[in-house]
Amino acid sequence: MRARILGSAAGGGLPQWNCGCDNCHAVRRDDPRVRARTQDSLAVFRGEHAVVCNASPDIRDQLAAAPRLHPRGVRGTPISAIVLTNGDLDHVLGLFSLRESQPLAIYATAAVRRGLVEHNAMCATLSRFPGQVVWRTLELEREVELADPAGAPTGISVRAFPLLGKLPVHLAKLSPSPEDNVGLSLRADGRELVYAPGCALPPPGLGDGADALLFDGTFWTSDELIRLGGTARAEDMAHIPISGPEGSLALLGRCTATRRIYTHINNTNPMLALGTAQRREVVAAGWEIAEDGMELLS
Ligand SMILES: [Zn+2]
Ligand SMILES: [Zn+2]
Repeated sequence: MRARILGSAAGGGLPQWNCGCDNCHAVRRDDPRVRARTQDSLAVFRGEHAVVCNASPDIRDQLAAAPRLHPRGVRGTPISAIVLTNGDLDHVLGLFSLRESQPLAIYATAAVRRGLVEHNAMCATLSRFPGQVVWRTLELEREVELADPAGAPTGISVRAFPLLGKLPVHLAKLSPSPEDNVGLSLRADGRELVYAPGCALPPPGLGDGADALLFDGTFWTSDELIRLGGTARAEDMAHIPISGPEGSLALLGRCTATRRIYTHINNTNPMLALGTAQRREVVAAGWEIAEDGMELLS
C-alpha cells in the first residue's frame, strides 16, 4: 500500500479567494516561505487499484497532478472507490466533478449518505443511469474490503470509527449522529494508515501502532479566526486546535504511529510558513506537516 496526500488544506484552500490573512497574502506575492495548497484529500494505492478519501472541490487539479491517477485507456479511471469522512462541502463537492458517465463506488456512513443524497437535489446528476454511483454503507467499527463499482476487490480494507465532529453547516437542521464524522483506518499488506482530517477530540490510542497518522491540523489556536475578525472558535467548527494544554500536540504526545502528520490545515495556521516558531514547535515534537503531493508508505 502506498499513499499520496492530494490536498493538505482545510476548506477554502491556500490562498482562500476571500481571505487576506498573512499566509494567503504570502502565497499571492510568491513568498517562498508559504506554499499554495489544495483542499483536503488522500489517495491510497495497491496494485492497479486507487482509493480516494474525500473528494475536494480541487479534485480535477489534484488528479491531473498525480500520474498514478490518470486514465490507462481511452476512457476509465484507476479510482476503484471513494471513501468519505463526512459531508462537509470541502470533502464532497469533487464528486460532482467526477460525473462523466463513469461508474463510482462511494463508501460513506448512512448519515453522511442521507445528508448528501436525500437533502441535496443536485445528487440527481450522479444517478443519470443505473449503476452510475454505487453507494456502500460504512458501519462504524466494522472493517470492510473496498471494491470497485463492479465489485472487484482492491485488497485495501477500511474501518470507519466515530470521531467527535459536527454536521455540515448546510445540514445543521438534522439531528446529530456519531456517524456524522468518522476517521478511517486503511489497511493493506500489513500496513496501516489512519486518516482523521476533522476531529474535535482525539480518542485515546488514536493512531497507535499505525505506519502513519494523518490528523486534523486545521487551527493552531482556538481564536485564530476571531483574531482575524471572524466569529467562530475552532471548537465551534469541531476542530481541536494544535497548541495549548488541551491541544492535539499535547493530547497525542504519546501516540506511537511511526509517522505523525498534520493535514487539513487552514490557510490562517501560522505553522504553514517556514521559519515560524509554531512550525519549529510541531517539528520538534516529531510531527510532520503535510504537503500536497506528499508520498507515504512507498
Ligand atoms: Zn474539511
Ligand atoms: Zn487566509
